[in-house]
Amino acid sequence: MERTLSIIKPDAVAKGVIGKILDRFESNGLKIAATKKVQLTRKDAECFYAIHAERPFFNDLVDFMISGPVVVSVLEGEDAVAKNRKLMGATNPKEAEAGTIRADFAENIDANAVHGSDSLENAVNEIAFFFSQRELS
Ligand code: ATP
Ligand code: MG
Repeated sequence: MERTLSIIKPDAVAKGVIGKILDRFESNGLKIAATKKVQLTRKDAECFYAIHAERPFFNDLVDFMISGPVVVSVLEGEDAVAKNRKLMGATNPKEAEAGTIRADFAENIDANAVHGSDSLENAVNEIAFFFSQRELS
């Protein structure tokens, strides 16, 4: 059993597809262990994406992530990290496989609907970033 962190990004929340995206997880064997809607501060977004701090798109990424509320969830199941990444599709929705969340709900590489942890180690850290022990038990 694995856990991974999912974020439904501001574009998808604004579009009103929270339910449709959560349904993709539940319909594909991932349980929603915890979920909440939050408005990230600039500091939150900068910390969360600190790994990309030197990339040219960092400021745009942070601006986008704080442009409206997001929905953060802990997904649980067998191979949860890889399964979620598969359900999400490629970072650039134009390259995302048909039927994936990004192919169906994302506009472009900046506003790409969802985030998902890319390794088990990052999943543990990202879950701890957003959820307390009490919210997870
Ligand atoms: P995420 O971390 O959001 O789940 P990802 O793991 O598929 O996405 P990363 O390489 O971690 O992709 O990039 C984080 C985010 O930064 C992407 O979701 C995207 O919005 C943005 N991004 C990545 N590469 C580019 C790029 N070349 N140009 C513009 N934005 C980019
Ligand atoms: Mg990433």
